Amino acid sequence: MPMFDYKCEACGKIFDDLVSSRDTADSEIECPHCKEKKAKRLFSAPAIAVNGAPPTASPGCNPSSGFS
Ligand SMILES: [Zn+2]
Repeated sequence: MPMFDYKCEACGKIFDDLVSSRDTADSEIECPHCKEKKAKRLFSAPAIAVNGAPPTASPGCNPSSGFS
């Protein structure tokens, strides 16, 4: 069963909720903190690795170094 993070628009708290396979409208999700049904689903941000090094520049493979 998928688990989603929600942010309550009323009190600003973030909570997660198990969502059944049935479609549950965000407006039906009740905030456990203030009991308001103003939760907004948060989409989990994908993990983006930012190294600064482009994958094409591999060390040890430099055509201009004049091997031979
Ligand atoms: Zn709330």
